[in-house]
Amino acid sequence: MRLALCLAAVLAAPACAQPVDPPRADGTPRRADSVVTRADALAPPVRPDTVRTVDVPVPIGTGRATVRVHTAPMPDALGSPGFEAFPLNALNLHDDEDTSVDAALDVLRQRGGRVVELVHSGDRNVSFEVVTGRVYANGEDRPELARFVADPNRMFTPAGRARTLGSLSTADDRGEAALAAFADSVLAVYAAEPPAVVLTLHNNTEANYSAASYQPGAQYASDAAAVTVHDGTDPDDFFFVTDRALYDALVARGYNAVLQDNDAATDDGSLSVWAARRDIPYVNVEAQHGHREEQAAMLLALLDVLGAQR
Ligand SMILES: [Zn+2]
Repeated sequence: MRLALCLAAVLAAPACAQPVDPPRADGTPRRADSVVTRADALAPPVRPDTVRTVDVPVPIGTGRATVRVHTAPMPDALGSPGFEAFPLNALNLHDDEDTSVDAALDVLRQRGGRVVELVHSGDRNVSFEVVTGRVYANGEDRPELARFVADPNRMFTPAGRARTLGSLSTADDRGEAALAAFADSVLAVYAAEPPAVVLTLHNNTEANYSAASYQPGAQYASDAAAVTVHDGTDPDDFFFVTDRALYDALVARGYNAVLQDNDAATDDGSLSVWAARRDIPYVNVEAQHGHREEQAAMLLALLDVLGAQR
Protein backbone atom coordinates (compact mmCIF):
# COMPACT_ATOMS: atom_id res chain seq x y z
CA MET A 1 0.00 0.00 0.00
CA ARG A 2 1.00 3.60 -0.39
CA LEU A 3 1.56 4.05 3.33
CA ALA A 4 3.69 0.94 3.55
CA LEU A 5 5.89 2.18 0.74
CA CYS A 6 6.03 5.68 2.17
CA LEU A 7 6.93 4.70 5.68
CA ALA A 8 9.27 1.91 4.68
CA ALA A 9 11.19 4.30 2.45
CA VAL A 10 11.42 7.07 5.03
CA LEU A 11 12.07 5.24 8.24
CA ALA A 12 14.86 3.02 9.46
CA ALA A 13 14.34 -0.33 11.18
CA PRO A 14 13.82 -0.21 14.97
CA ALA A 15 16.55 -0.87 17.47
CA CYS A 16 17.01 -4.14 19.34
CA ALA A 17 13.98 -5.46 21.18
CA GLN A 18 13.56 -7.00 24.62
CA PRO A 19 10.52 -9.07 25.66
CA VAL A 20 8.95 -7.89 28.92
CA ASP A 21 5.98 -8.43 31.16
CA PRO A 22 4.95 -4.80 31.60
CA PRO A 23 3.40 -3.67 34.88
CA ARG A 24 0.45 -1.30 34.99
CA ALA A 25 0.81 2.19 36.42
CA ASP A 26 -0.36 1.01 39.86
CA GLY A 27 2.33 -1.68 39.94
CA THR A 28 0.06 -4.67 39.37
CA PRO A 29 0.67 -6.73 36.25
CA ARG A 30 -1.62 -6.22 33.30
CA ARG A 31 -4.24 -8.94 33.57
CA ALA A 32 -4.71 -10.69 30.29
CA ASP A 33 -8.28 -11.74 31.18
CA SER A 34 -9.60 -8.30 32.15
CA VAL A 35 -11.58 -7.87 28.94
CA VAL A 36 -14.51 -5.53 28.53
CA THR A 37 -17.91 -7.00 29.23
CA ARG A 38 -19.77 -5.85 26.12
CA ALA A 39 -19.94 -9.43 24.91
CA ASP A 40 -22.53 -8.55 22.29
CA ALA A 41 -20.03 -6.28 20.57
CA LEU A 42 -17.05 -8.58 20.69
CA ALA A 43 -15.81 -11.59 18.76
CA PRO A 44 -14.62 -14.71 20.60
CA PRO A 45 -11.38 -13.80 22.41
CA VAL A 46 -7.97 -15.05 21.47
CA ARG A 47 -6.27 -17.00 24.24
CA PRO A 48 -4.88 -14.47 26.73
CA ASP A 49 -1.40 -15.99 26.67
CA THR A 50 -1.08 -15.21 22.99
CA VAL A 51 -0.56 -11.49 23.68
CA ARG A 52 3.15 -10.78 23.43
CA THR A 53 4.84 -7.60 24.63
CA VAL A 54 8.22 -6.34 23.47
CA ASP A 55 10.04 -3.20 24.64
CA VAL A 56 12.08 -1.29 22.08
CA PRO A 57 14.53 1.24 23.59
CA VAL A 58 14.49 4.53 21.67
CA PRO A 59 17.21 7.16 22.19
CA ILE A 60 16.20 10.73 23.01
CA GLY A 61 19.08 13.14 23.59
CA THR A 62 21.45 11.56 26.11
CA GLY A 63 18.73 9.27 27.48
CA ARG A 64 16.16 6.86 26.17
CA ALA A 65 12.46 6.18 26.16
CA THR A 66 10.66 2.94 25.41
CA VAL A 67 8.30 2.05 22.63
CA ARG A 68 6.26 -0.90 23.93
CA VAL A 69 4.75 -3.15 21.31
CA HIS A 70 1.89 -5.54 22.16
CA THR A 71 0.90 -8.08 19.52
CA ALA A 72 -1.63 -10.90 19.27
CA PRO A 73 -2.58 -13.17 16.38
CA MET A 74 -5.86 -12.53 14.61
CA PRO A 75 -8.37 -15.24 15.67
CA ASP A 76 -9.32 -17.76 12.98
CA ALA A 77 -12.99 -16.84 13.53
CA LEU A 78 -12.34 -13.44 11.92
CA GLY A 79 -11.11 -14.99 8.70
CA SER A 80 -14.49 -16.18 7.44
CA PRO A 81 -15.04 -16.32 3.64
CA GLY A 82 -15.98 -13.00 2.10
CA PHE A 83 -14.91 -10.98 5.12
CA GLU A 84 -11.45 -9.58 5.59
CA ALA A 85 -11.04 -8.12 9.08
CA PHE A 86 -9.13 -4.84 9.22
CA PRO A 87 -5.98 -5.37 11.31
CA LEU A 88 -5.66 -3.36 14.51
CA ASN A 89 -2.43 -1.32 14.52
CA ALA A 90 -2.75 1.53 17.02
CA LEU A 91 -0.31 4.06 18.50
CA ASN A 92 -0.50 5.79 21.90
CA LEU A 93 1.82 8.81 22.24
CA HIS A 94 0.82 10.29 25.60
CA ASP A 95 2.11 8.20 28.51
CA ASP A 96 -0.59 9.46 30.92
CA GLU A 97 -3.51 8.37 28.73
CA ASP A 98 -3.75 4.81 30.08
CA THR A 99 -7.48 4.33 29.47
CA SER A 100 -6.85 4.40 25.74
CA VAL A 101 -4.16 1.71 26.03
CA ASP A 102 -6.33 -0.47 28.27
CA ALA A 103 -9.21 -0.18 25.79
CA ALA A 104 -6.95 -1.01 22.87
CA LEU A 105 -5.54 -4.03 24.70
CA ASP A 106 -9.11 -5.21 25.34
CA VAL A 107 -9.68 -5.06 21.58
CA LEU A 108 -6.28 -6.62 20.87
CA ARG A 109 -7.23 -9.67 22.93
CA GLN A 110 -10.46 -10.00 20.95
CA ARG A 111 -9.31 -9.16 17.44
CA GLY A 112 -5.56 -9.65 17.45
CA GLY A 113 -3.22 -7.12 15.84
CA ARG A 114 -0.85 -4.62 17.35
CA VAL A 115 -0.91 -1.86 19.99
CA VAL A 116 2.16 0.40 20.29
CA GLU A 117 2.68 2.76 23.23
CA LEU A 118 5.32 5.32 24.05
CA VAL A 119 6.53 4.80 27.64
CA HIS A 120 8.80 7.10 29.62
CA SER A 121 7.81 9.00 32.79
CA GLY A 122 4.08 8.37 32.97
CA ASP A 123 3.56 12.03 32.08
CA ARG A 124 2.19 13.52 28.87
CA ASN A 125 5.37 15.36 27.96
CA VAL A 126 8.83 13.89 27.46
CA SER A 127 11.97 15.42 29.01
CA PHE A 128 15.48 14.96 27.68
CA GLU A 129 18.98 16.39 27.81
CA VAL A 130 21.47 17.23 25.08
CA VAL A 131 25.23 17.72 25.49
CA THR A 132 26.19 21.33 24.74
CA GLY A 133 29.88 21.26 25.67
CA ARG A 134 32.28 20.42 28.50
CA VAL A 135 32.65 22.01 31.91
CA TYR A 136 35.67 21.87 34.24
CA ALA A 137 34.88 22.16 37.93
CA ASN A 138 36.64 20.85 41.06
CA GLY A 139 39.27 19.22 38.90
CA GLU A 140 36.60 17.28 37.08
CA ASP A 141 35.77 17.30 33.39
CA ARG A 142 32.11 16.58 32.65
CA PRO A 143 29.57 17.23 29.91
CA GLU A 144 27.52 20.40 29.96
CA LEU A 145 23.86 19.58 29.40
CA ALA A 146 20.79 21.49 28.26
CA ARG A 147 17.38 20.19 29.29
CA PHE A 148 14.31 20.16 27.03
CA VAL A 149 10.63 19.28 27.38
CA ALA A 150 8.31 18.45 24.47
CA ASP A 151 4.84 17.11 23.75
CA PRO A 152 5.28 13.83 21.82
CA ASN A 153 2.25 14.65 19.66
CA ARG A 154 3.78 17.95 18.59
CA MET A 155 7.11 16.63 17.31
CA PHE A 156 6.37 15.53 13.76
CA THR A 157 7.05 18.78 11.86
CA PRO A 158 9.81 21.40 12.22
CA ALA A 159 7.32 24.13 13.17
CA GLY A 160 5.71 21.85 15.75
CA ARG A 161 9.04 20.93 17.32
CA ALA A 162 10.09 24.58 17.63
CA ARG A 163 6.75 25.51 19.13
CA THR A 164 6.48 22.68 21.68
CA LEU A 165 10.10 23.02 22.82
CA GLY A 166 9.73 26.79 23.07
CA SER A 167 6.51 26.67 25.05
CA LEU A 168 7.57 23.88 27.44
CA SER A 169 11.32 24.66 27.72
CA THR A 170 13.61 26.30 25.15
CA ALA A 171 13.78 25.88 21.40
CA ASP A 172 17.20 25.65 19.76
CA ASP A 173 18.86 23.66 16.99
CA ARG A 174 20.22 20.94 19.27
CA GLY A 175 16.93 20.35 21.02
CA GLU A 176 15.02 20.34 17.74
CA ALA A 177 17.47 17.90 16.12
CA ALA A 178 17.26 15.48 19.06
CA LEU A 179 13.47 15.66 19.02
CA ALA A 180 13.35 15.11 15.24
CA ALA A 181 15.50 11.98 15.60
CA PHE A 182 13.23 10.76 18.39
CA ALA A 183 10.10 11.31 16.29
CA ASP A 184 11.63 9.31 13.44
CA SER A 185 12.56 6.49 15.83
CA VAL A 186 9.06 6.28 17.32
CA LEU A 187 7.47 6.24 13.87
CA ALA A 188 9.94 3.60 12.70
CA VAL A 189 8.82 1.22 15.45
CA TYR A 190 5.14 1.89 14.76
CA ALA A 191 5.60 1.46 11.00
CA ALA A 192 7.69 -1.70 11.32
CA GLU A 193 4.30 -3.30 10.70
CA PRO A 194 3.10 -0.74 8.14
CA PRO A 195 -0.42 0.47 9.00
CA ALA A 196 -2.91 1.09 6.19
CA VAL A 197 -4.37 3.83 8.38
CA VAL A 198 -2.46 5.71 11.08
CA LEU A 199 -4.61 4.96 14.13
CA THR A 200 -3.84 6.85 17.34
CA LEU A 201 -5.22 6.59 20.87
CA HIS A 202 -5.87 9.56 23.14
CA ASN A 203 -7.78 10.44 26.31
CA ASN A 204 -9.09 13.78 27.48
CA THR A 205 -10.66 15.17 30.63
CA GLU A 206 -14.26 16.19 31.25
CA ALA A 207 -15.19 19.66 30.00
CA ASN A 208 -11.85 20.53 28.42
CA TYR A 209 -10.75 19.50 24.93
CA SER A 210 -13.52 17.63 23.06
CA ALA A 211 -15.31 17.47 19.71
CA ALA A 212 -17.10 20.64 20.83
CA SER A 213 -13.73 22.43 20.68
CA TYR A 214 -14.07 22.31 16.87
CA GLN A 215 -17.63 23.63 16.60
CA PRO A 216 -18.16 27.07 15.04
CA GLY A 217 -16.84 29.79 17.33
CA ALA A 218 -14.88 27.37 19.52
CA GLN A 219 -11.11 27.31 20.05
CA TYR A 220 -10.13 25.00 17.18
CA ALA A 221 -12.98 25.73 14.76
CA SER A 222 -10.56 26.81 12.01
CA ASP A 223 -8.82 23.40 12.07
CA ALA A 224 -12.02 21.50 11.20
CA ALA A 225 -13.81 21.03 7.88
CA ALA A 226 -16.78 19.33 9.59
CA VAL A 227 -17.91 18.48 13.12
CA THR A 228 -20.73 16.28 14.40
CA VAL A 229 -21.76 16.00 18.05
CA HIS A 230 -24.95 13.96 18.33
CA ASP A 231 -27.60 15.14 20.78
CA GLY A 232 -27.41 13.42 24.15
CA THR A 233 -23.86 12.13 23.66
CA ASP A 234 -20.61 12.99 25.45
CA PRO A 235 -18.52 15.23 23.15
CA ASP A 236 -15.38 13.96 24.95
CA ASP A 237 -15.78 10.65 23.09
CA PHE A 238 -15.12 11.27 19.40
CA PHE A 239 -13.12 10.38 16.33
CA PHE A 240 -10.73 12.89 14.78
CA VAL A 241 -10.11 11.95 11.14
CA THR A 242 -8.49 13.31 7.98
CA ASP A 243 -10.68 11.40 5.50
CA ARG A 244 -14.21 12.51 4.48
CA ALA A 245 -15.55 9.02 3.69
CA LEU A 246 -14.42 7.73 7.06
CA TYR A 247 -15.95 10.76 8.80
CA ASP A 248 -19.28 10.15 7.07
CA ALA A 249 -19.29 6.44 7.91
CA LEU A 250 -18.53 7.01 11.60
CA VAL A 251 -21.13 9.79 11.92
CA ALA A 252 -23.70 7.52 10.22
CA ARG A 253 -23.04 4.94 12.93
CA GLY A 254 -23.93 7.48 15.57
CA TYR A 255 -20.42 8.49 16.64
CA ASN A 256 -19.18 12.00 17.25
CA ALA A 257 -16.49 13.00 14.78
CA VAL A 258 -14.28 15.85 13.64
CA LEU A 259 -12.93 16.07 10.08
CA GLN A 260 -9.61 17.90 9.96
CA ASP A 261 -9.38 20.69 7.38
CA ASN A 262 -6.25 19.29 5.78
CA ASP A 263 -5.44 22.53 3.97
CA ALA A 264 -6.13 24.99 6.79
CA ALA A 265 -5.20 22.98 9.92
CA THR A 266 -2.59 24.64 12.11
CA ASP A 267 0.90 23.14 11.69
CA ASP A 268 1.26 22.15 15.36
CA GLY A 269 3.50 19.16 14.65
CA SER A 270 0.81 16.62 15.55
CA LEU A 271 0.66 13.27 13.79
CA SER A 272 -2.62 14.22 12.07
CA VAL A 273 -0.83 17.08 10.31
CA TRP A 274 2.11 14.83 9.45
CA ALA A 275 -0.24 12.21 7.97
CA ALA A 276 -2.33 14.72 6.00
CA ARG A 277 0.80 16.15 4.38
CA ARG A 278 1.67 12.68 3.13
CA ASP A 279 -1.89 11.89 2.06
CA ILE A 280 -2.02 9.03 4.57
CA PRO A 281 -5.41 8.36 6.22
CA TYR A 282 -5.36 9.17 9.95
CA VAL A 283 -7.80 8.43 12.77
CA ASN A 284 -7.55 9.44 16.41
CA VAL A 285 -9.85 7.47 18.70
CA GLU A 286 -10.33 9.96 21.53
CA ALA A 287 -12.30 9.34 24.73
CA GLN A 288 -12.58 10.73 28.22
CA HIS A 289 -10.26 9.24 30.86
CA GLY A 290 -12.04 6.22 32.39
CA HIS A 291 -14.28 5.58 29.37
CA ARG A 292 -12.60 2.27 28.70
CA GLU A 293 -15.65 0.36 27.49
CA GLU A 294 -16.76 3.26 25.32
CA GLN A 295 -13.32 3.58 23.77
CA ALA A 296 -13.06 -0.18 23.14
CA ALA A 297 -16.48 -0.08 21.43
CA MET A 298 -15.32 2.89 19.33
CA LEU A 299 -12.23 0.95 18.23
CA LEU A 300 -14.30 -2.08 17.29
CA ALA A 301 -16.70 0.11 15.30
CA LEU A 302 -13.77 1.75 13.54
CA LEU A 303 -12.27 -1.62 12.57
CA ASP A 304 -15.67 -2.65 11.18
CA VAL A 305 -15.95 0.56 9.15
CA LEU A 306 -12.39 0.25 7.84
CA GLY A 307 -12.98 -3.41 6.99
CA ALA A 308 -16.13 -2.50 5.07
CA GLN A 309 -14.27 0.23 3.13
CA ARG A 310 -11.65 -2.16 1.82
ZN1 LIG B 1 -3.23 12.46 23.95
